[in-house]
Amino acid sequence: MIADEPTTALDVTVQKRVLEMLDAAVDERGSSLVLITHDLAVIAAMCRRVIVMYGGRMVEEGPVAEVFRRPRHPYTHGLLRCQPTLDNVTFDRDALLPSIPGQVPSLTEMPSGCAFRTRCPRAEAGCAEVPPFERAGHGVACWHPLRPADTAPPAAAGEGVP
Ligand code: SF4
Repeated sequence: MIADEPTTALDVTVQKRVLEMLDAAVDERGSSLVLITHDLAVIAAMCRRVIVMYGGRMVEEGPVAEVFRRPRHPYTHGLLRCQPTLDNVTFDRDALLPSIPGQVPSLTEMPSGCAFRTRCPRAEAGCAEVPPFERAGHGVACWHPLRPADTAPPAAAGEGVP
């Protein structure tokens, strides 16, 4: 089964019912579910493996728990940092949640090399030359992926996602 953004714009009670129905349908048919969503909490609740896409390409892939605890691609790392948690939400009305700077480029105006490089804090000159390719295992398409020591804040964010 393929469910494309099945919970977008739903309130949490309806969202829960939709996810329960999907779960039941998968069990009943003995099938698999491909879930397309921007909601990291839904991924954490429903999926075993995750593929992170950027600019129409896979940038990171692996078991959900591993990718969320130790993201290696700067885009995945940025997405996880943007999740509100008890650590990064305050009642200060001037405080801002972390965000990924810049905008997703148009598909007709993709930068050369890595599509994420105009927004990436780890970009180097070589990133503009050759598009990175994904490697096997907990795969990441990045010339300078994060190491476990780089990902302490998102590890906390990943664990906070239900
Ligand atoms: S290849 Fe370079 S620009 Fe692209 S995500 Fe990795 S470090 Fe950033």
